Amino acid sequence: MRSGERIRNMSLRSLRAAGVRAWLRSQLGGRCRKCGATDHLEFHLKVGDGAKHHLMSAKDRVYFYVQQFVAGNLDLLCGGCHGLLTVAQSRARRLERLYSGSRGVSSVAATTGTSTPHTRLE
Ligand SMILES: [Zn+2]
Repeated sequence: MRSGERIRNMSLRSLRAAGVRAWLRSQLGGRCRKCGATDHLEFHLKVGDGAKHHLMSAKDRVYFYVQQFVAGNLDLLCGGCHGLLTVAQSRARRLERLYSGSRGVSSVAATTGTSTPHTRLE
């Protein structure tokens, strides 16, 4: 655990952010929504934003989480449950991309291949 070291390196501003984080955690019941674990808790967006919030600074992210909490879109999960869920979500996104990608390929094939009249519902 390097949490002591991390706290020493924190600015006052991010210490406040850490306080907000702790407050949010307690508002969400302080335990994993799925398995009830109280260790390694992480925030999870019920309706994800494609991990765009991971590009924010730690401070901005905390306030982003507060907004999501107010909107009822925030869940508390342990690292294990969160990992499983995130994998499932990114797999779904990959499938989505694959699907739209293959549609692109087939429309290219339609223009270069034989003149098959093929109307697609776009
Ligand atoms: Zn869990």
